[in-house]
Amino acid sequence: MNVVVCSQCGQRFTLSHDVISQDAALAERQMAWLLDHFVWDHIQENKHKAVITLPASAEMK
Ligand SMILES: [Zn+2]
Repeated sequence: MNVVVCSQCGQRFTLSHDVISQDAALAERQMAWLLDHFVWDHIQENKHKAVITLPASAEMK
């Protein structure tokens, strides 16, 4: 299990292995995407969703 912590509010999200890529480089991009997503939630004053769908790898820059 991987845990991602929002740097803004400290909320923790636990990610299962079938969500996170086995590919370490891609997994790192997924984590970075999530952290960005959390920052956006705060900018837009949205609450974090309990379930976050990761974009397909091709959509992540
Ligand atoms: Zn947060």
